[in-house]
Amino acid sequence: MNKKFRLALVAVLVISLLTFAGCSSTEKAKTETPQQEEKAPQKVVYKVGTEPTFPPFEFTNEKNEIVGFDIDLIKAIAEDQGFEVEVQQLGFDGLILALQSGNIDIAASGMSITPERLQQVDFSDPYIDAGLAIAVANNNETIKGVDDLKGTKVAVQIGTTGAGKAQELLEAGLIKEIKTFPTVDVVMMELMNGGVDAVINDLPVTEAYISKQPGKIKVVGDVLESDSYGFAVRKGNTELLEKINAGLKNLKENGKFEEIQNKYF
Ligand code: GLN
Repeated sequence: MNKKFRLALVAVLVISLLTFAGCSSTEKAKTETPQQEEKAPQKVVYKVGTEPTFPPFEFTNEKNEIVGFDIDLIKAIAEDQGFEVEVQQLGFDGLILALQSGNIDIAASGMSITPERLQQVDFSDPYIDAGLAIAVANNNETIKGVDDLKGTKVAVQIGTTGAGKAQELLEAGLIKEIKTFPTVDVVMMELMNGGVDAVINDLPVTEAYISKQPGKIKVVGDVLESDSYGFAVRKGNTELLEKINAGLKNLKENGKFEEIQNKYF
């Protein structure tokens, strides 16, 4: 073997080794890419805040899970639009602040769309109509409507449209005293215990409490105020708002909305 031949042999060896190394790394790259592609893309998770003493819209079941019409609806919207939700319990009067500070992304809490709230947050399209009603103890024969609230004590949940209405009636010289509570279950308890003469609360929710414990509370008079519920998002979060509205529209078209409605009403 002469020197030239040996050099050529080394060169061939080096080249083939380099080619082999190159090949193996491409092979490796090839096998890695499909594995990564097979993994489902991470879905964005939005935090949903709710105050769950508001049946049938949101309440805690026997297993201590937060369930209800609003919860099923926002979960169905999430599924339709390819995102996920994480539901957490908050005080009703803290929901707007939690949206504004970014602690939650969506308030799903039987929240009425009002002009005041529209200045602080954005609302989805309305998804259900509700109204405020007066409730009294079953054996109360004196309060038959709003005019009979003169000189009475009324219980409400803090931060709600019911609380706003009570304040209006107090300023108009009708109601004598307002007792404010953080949750609706306590509001109802106060009425049943005789701590107040009446309650102002959303009609479908008061009806749900009545059907849970029949014969203790009754609704009197006309609906005081009609309003609609919407999902609230941080002001300017149009990306999320558009997803919620698109999902809501799809669920109304494909019958899923009605299915959820039939489950809770
Ligand atoms: N609909 C009422 C409101 O928006 C009450 C909501 C609630 O208590 N969860 O104020």
